[in-house]
Amino acid sequence: MTLRPRELSRSVASFPARTPTLPPATHTNSYALGARDVVLVEPATPYEDEQRAWLEWARALPSSGRVPKAIVVTHHHVDHVGGVDVLSRELGLPLWAHAETASRISAPVERMLAEGDVIDLAGPVPARWRVLHTPGHAPGHVCLLDEAGTLVVGDMVASVGTILIAPGDGDMKVYLEQLERLAALDARLALPAHGEPIDTPSLLFRRYVAHRLMREAKVLAAVAGHGVEGATDDQLLPEAYDDTPVTIWPIALLSLRAHLAKLEGEGRIRVDARSTERPRYIAGR
Ligand SMILES: [Zn+2]
Repeated sequence: MTLRPRELSRSVASFPARTPTLPPATHTNSYALGARDVVLVEPATPYEDEQRAWLEWARALPSSGRVPKAIVVTHHHVDHVGGVDVLSRELGLPLWAHAETASRISAPVERMLAEGDVIDLAGPVPARWRVLHTPGHAPGHVCLLDEAGTLVVGDMVASVGTILIAPGDGDMKVYLEQLERLAALDARLALPAHGEPIDTPSLLFRRYVAHRLMREAKVLAAVAGHGVEGATDDQLLPEAYDDTPVTIWPIALLSLRAHLAKLEGEGRIRVDARSTERPRYIAGR
């Protein structure tokens, strides 16, 4: 049983709730940011028992002098917004999110968060959280950075499980650019949606970038290995992911497609236009 809530500092508490997320992760962390005025990040859980526990937590915050002002959504994925209607309604709190997230969720968003916005939280320890728009995993993904170097990272990285970049919502090229940008911040502590807080997060951001580039090189080599004939994604999968368990291949296929889209966009591979069935990927222009 997960211990919750957890007081991480005088102005940050976390509350993990069970969600339908990607295994091996089982929970999504919510955070209460602020020593008096508080924003609650991630109305994540769709499960009634977990929603009850979450509401109990939120309703108990005033007993320690904290006043919830709004609920912030980092992005629209189902394991982050499963309680968005119920939890905001029960607490009577407005929702804040990026416009690209607002257009993808059912509940009305009162404040649109944009790059560079500042969330000012009054209190004995006043806090200013700067909004960073960090697309790549999801179009409307935002991170929050305070002046002490604490970075709420949503699903940009995780300390348990993997971050899936899937075609459609995801963009591998943009995701890697945003990870580089986060790494350059040299944040002190990252608070992920899944898993434990992360010390020296820049190391982890760079490790993520290196890992994706390693995978990209394998994808490119696999495509090149098929010469002028090229290969379909399901032919490339066992070659580019030969070091991963077969059980994750259905997820890996989505990731592979995101890599292929990036390589195609960069002109490093092309797609056979004559192919009538599955597209064939061919090395070179
Ligand atoms: Zn996500």
